[in-house]
Amino acid sequence: ARSGVRVYRASDDQNTPHRLALIGDLREAVDADRTLVVFQPKVDPATGTVVGAEALSRWEHPEHGFIAPDLFVPLAEHSGLIRPLTLHVLEIALRNCAVWRRTGHDLHVAVNLSPNTLSDDTLPEVITRLLAENGVPASALTLEITEGTLMADPDGGLVTLERLRRLGIKISIDDFGTGYSSLGRLRDLPIDEVKIDKSFVQKAAHDHHDQAFTRSIVQLGHALGLQVVAEGVEDEATYRHLAAIGCDVVQGYHVSRPLPVDEFTAWLRTTPAH
Ligand code: C2E
Ligand code: CA
Ligand code: CA
Ligand code: CA
Repeated sequence: ARSGVRVYRASDDQNTPHRLALIGDLREAVDADRTLVVFQPKVDPATGTVVGAEALSRWEHPEHGFIAPDLFVPLAEHSGLIRPLTLHVLEIALRNCAVWRRTGHDLHVAVNLSPNTLSDDTLPEVITRLLAENGVPASALTLEITEGTLMADPDGGLVTLERLRRLGIKISIDDFGTGYSSLGRLRDLPIDEVKIDKSFVQKAAHDHHDQAFTRSIVQLGHALGLQVVAEGVEDEATYRHLAAIGCDVVQGYHVSRPLPVDEFTAWLRTTPAH
């Protein structure tokens, strides 16, 4: 938790009065576009240049303070709020991506997609419109999905994925290594990128198994023509390990925490240009 900020976490996910009240409060925040978006830089460890940013949602509850996305995103998923929440993130992400690109930073922006969002077959049209309105090329947008997202609706989800990808949008498998997919199975999926889960990344500098795991994901990912990203890079040793094994992109507190857009823009000015 940030200093002085109480981060609320649910102890269970029953429909308690408290949970229902939270959903009501979240609905108000989503309806009024009062959820926030922060941006975490993504960097090429070979050169130190910034290549993009992941957009992450934040919700500051009027009484409870900041609520962790690991809590409110599932609430949104289960209460019909994930679509408007996701569209809000896409809007803010693409609007800011357009500004960065106009000011000479060749950046992409990544947005997280929940399972039920992918079964919405109007998504490709909506995203096409948002890209056009903001003048951002489809290739500058990455959608991050977990294996679970694909498994939740394997057929409907895949069709939407194929359509998004045909538009030129990049698809990334988030939290890779935590689910059941082998890289061999990934070969059949319409994806461009794998993102190694932070639980493996964090131990990679010190644990031989995790070192071998990250190295083999990078090698196999490259053999399959995929970009490989590592999240949760918290120290210099891990950063160096990932650079040494040829990981394409790294993200984590060692580079920067997720930042409000003004701070992100200020941070951009202090880093080498792409
Ligand atoms: P994720 O997509 O795996 O995002 C990475 C999480 O790791 C973020 O947590 C980020 O702040 C955190 N992180 C970044 N660098 C480090 C590091 O070096 N060390 C550690 N320990 N953590 C790091 P956050 O922002 O709390 O989000 C948690 C999860 O909530 C996300 O995991 C994602 O699954 C979900 N989420 C957040 N925003 C959205 C959203 O707009 N839409 C959807 N569908 N899901 C979202
Ligand atoms: Ca993500
Ligand atoms: Ca992740
Ligand atoms: Ca995660």
